[in-house]
Amino acid sequence: MSPTDRLRAMSDRHSAHNYHPLPIVIAEAEGAWVTDVEGRRYLDMLAAYSAVNFGHRNPRLLEAARRQLDRVTLVSRAFDHDQFGPFTAELAELCGKDMVLPMNSGAEAVETALKTARKWGYEVKGVPAGRANIITFEGNFHGRTTTIVSFSTDPDAKDSYGPYTPGFRTVPYGDVQALRDAMDDDTVGVLIEPIQGEAGVNVPPSGFLTAVRELCTERGVLMLADEIQSGLGRTGTTFAVEHEGVVPDVYILGKALGGGIMPVSAVVADRGVLGVFKPGQHGSTFGGNPLACAIGREVVAMLRTGEFQERSRTLGGHLHRRLGDLPSDLVRQVRGRGLWAGVELHQKARPVSERLMELGVLAKETHDTTIRLAPPLVIDKADLDWALDRLEIALKG
Ligand SMILES: *Cc1c(COP(=O)(O)O)cnc(C)c1O
Repeated sequence: MSPTDRLRAMSDRHSAHNYHPLPIVIAEAEGAWVTDVEGRRYLDMLAAYSAVNFGHRNPRLLEAARRQLDRVTLVSRAFDHDQFGPFTAELAELCGKDMVLPMNSGAEAVETALKTARKWGYEVKGVPAGRANIITFEGNFHGRTTTIVSFSTDPDAKDSYGPYTPGFRTVPYGDVQALRDAMDDDTVGVLIEPIQGEAGVNVPPSGFLTAVRELCTERGVLMLADEIQSGLGRTGTTFAVEHEGVVPDVYILGKALGGGIMPVSAVVADRGVLGVFKPGQHGSTFGGNPLACAIGREVVAMLRTGEFQERSRTLGGHLHRRLGDLPSDLVRQVRGRGLWAGVELHQKARPVSERLMELGVLAKETHDTTIRLAPPLVIDKADLDWALDRLEIALKG
C-alpha cells in the first residue's frame, strides 16, 4: 500500500466525512507549491480558500511567528500584552476605522458582527427589544455556526440543523429593490459578501455595493462587509468594496489575516459601533493572543506596501485574459476579480479537479460545475501560465 493510500484510509476511517478532499496527502509546502508524501509537487491554485494569500510559509510571516514563539504566546484577555495594542491600532488604521475586536475563526467574526449590529440596534438606533432584523443574500456563505446556517440558502449547509435562529431576512444577491423592500424600522444590519466566494465567485452587478451603501445610510442600518475571503489583497485591492469606492460600517476579516499560520479574525468598525461592548458582554479565550497579534501585525505591514494588491491586479488581469480566451465549448462563463476566478463549465467540475491534480495543479470545484481558482498572490507568472495550460488540457478531458 502506498503512503498516500495508507494515510487516506486512516482519515477515511477515523475522521468525520464532512469534506470530500482530493486524493492527495500533503507533507510540505513553500510559496505557491506543495509536495505530497510521495514527493510529487503540485501548484496550489486554491490557497486554502484565500487563507494563504501570502504563500505557504511566507518567510516574513514565519519570522514574525518565530520571534513571538520565543517571547509569549497566550495570556488571555484577562491581561494586556505588548502585541495587542499595536495590532489593533495598525489593523484599525489599515481599515480607516477606530477599533478592532479580534476573534479566531471567520465564523466567530461574523457572529461578532451580528451581535454588534443587534446590540447597536437596541442601544443606539433604539429598536424595541427583541425585534431587530438583519438582511442577508441568497447564495451567501458566512460560516458554519447554528445562527449563520440559519440564513444559508444552501440545503447542504442548513438542513437538519434547526431550530433556526430567527431575525434574518434573505433577498436575491444584486436585487436593490428587494433589499429596499425588506428593510424596515427594525433593520439593524445588512450582511454582505462584496463578491460571493463559496457561491462560485459571484461578482454583483455594477453599482450594487454603492446602492447597498446608500440604502444603509438612508435607513440608518449598518453595512456589514464580510471580507473574510474577498479582502486582504485577493481582488487587487485591500478590500473588495474598494472596487466601487464603498466604505462599509463594519469590516469582517479572517482567513489571510492569520498569514496561513493560524486562525486570526477580527471585526473592525468605528467607536460609535464597536463602542457598544462593555466588559463581560463578548469575548474569546484565544482572540487577540500574542502569537495571533504578532502574525496579524506582519500581515498588516505587508498589505501596507501595496505590493500584494498590485500583484493580484496585474497577474489577475493576465489570468482573466487567458481564461477569457478559452474556447466557449469548454467554458460557459468566467467570473471574478484579481487573482480570483470562478470558471463555470459545461461539464461536472469534480472530474476536472481530479484530472488537474494528476497534472500537478490543485484546484477545487465549488458546487457542481464551477472550478474556483485562487492561487497565492505570490505565484510566479510562469507558474500561473503553466497551471492555465494544464487547465485547458484537463477541460478537454
Ligand atoms: C471562509 C469564510 C467564512 C468562515 O470562515 P471560517 O474561518 O471557516 O469560520 C465566512 N465568510 C466568508 C465570506 C468566508 O469565505
